[in-house]
Amino acid sequence: MPYLDHAATTPVRPAVRATLARWLDDAEGVVGNGSSAHAAGQRARTAVEEARERVAAALACHPGDVVFTAGGTEADNLAVKGLAWAAARRRRAGHLVTTAVEHPAVADAARWLAEHEGMELTVVPPRADGTVDPERVLAAVRDDTALVSVMAANNELGAVNDLVAIGTALRERGVAFHTDAVQAFATRVLDLAELPVDALALSAHKFGGPQGVGVAVLRRGVPVEPLLHGGGQDRGVRSGTFAAALVAACGVAVAEADATRAATVARLAPLADRLANGLLALDGVRRNGPTDPADRLVSHVHVSVDGVDGEALTFALDRAGLEVSAGAACASGATHVSPVLAACGIDGDAALRLSLGWTTTEADVDEALATVAAVVADLRARGGGFVPPPARAAGAAP
Ligand code: PLP
Repeated sequence: MPYLDHAATTPVRPAVRATLARWLDDAEGVVGNGSSAHAAGQRARTAVEEARERVAAALACHPGDVVFTAGGTEADNLAVKGLAWAAARRRRAGHLVTTAVEHPAVADAARWLAEHEGMELTVVPPRADGTVDPERVLAAVRDDTALVSVMAANNELGAVNDLVAIGTALRERGVAFHTDAVQAFATRVLDLAELPVDALALSAHKFGGPQGVGVAVLRRGVPVEPLLHGGGQDRGVRSGTFAAALVAACGVAVAEADATRAATVARLAPLADRLANGLLALDGVRRNGPTDPADRLVSHVHVSVDGVDGEALTFALDRAGLEVSAGAACASGATHVSPVLAACGIDGDAALRLSLGWTTTEADVDEALATVAAVVADLRARGGGFVPPPARAAGAAP
């Protein structure tokens, strides 16, 4: 049963599972509260600090810049709202810049600030391949811009953005810069010694860690307002008892994904090519996203399939044993049209995202190709599986 939906979530790595089990089984004695002074508390705290060191080593940042969150969504919200509020207060700046390809964790956080906090929002449109033109982003920046947020790589098309060009210019203008790197980390090196970003979001479940834990890199010295108030953990930016087991597991996932990234990419590149070429060999299949491999994640293969409904295709593929995402996927059970694909002028109705990851094999790819060919032929023979428009609502793939 091939699973080609690594962009949605990935299988947990054995070393991560072992770490979780060790903490949850409490094999080494009582798991304390990481803020407690006694030995049990200090064991938990040590695990958190070791994880912090691992994340910092993988990203080439200072451990003090690393804040643990409950996932990518919280990391994005903390960065977008936290940096925008702090910059707005300091500089009386109330303008935000994002792009039309952001994940809802950024897009909706920025929209919320505009609707509820009186901020002004500029949403920069992408190129047709899903990448964002740095010049267009920089042209949107004003003297009162509090924050710019541009994702490192898009979750649907895998389109990679030029963070250096954007960040370098923003540094010169003193404007805070956040990037959602949730999709990028598994296959792209993120070297914060070189990348001029003030904040960055990761989510452990996208690279073999558990769901429900993530990282917000928030450079010390860049003012940030906390979203959560309470015990003052994580330099007062993210209150709440340290989730020692999840954080330790996140640290192990980050370290292993980072250490094995080059080998993973070398293994996945020919598999992704094999998958894309096999799909393009079918009638009426087009590839979406950047054509230059340098501009797209090796993990993502996004295609449009003529003559079938994308959602019907995804369900039929699932029944046939192939797990992938429609170009538009569901967060609430309804069928969605992806705003990202719409912004790129791609017909989301007939789109399919197949995404590879650390467990993907050649057999997965070959089985997937055979399944897609058979299911598409069958659906087309039965009229494509189109559903009437009223069932549709706005949404996007995770
Ligand atoms: N940002 C991007 C680009 C994503 O793909 C996702 C998950 O789909 C998120 C943020 C949210 O991460 P999480 O699922 O950990 O909340």
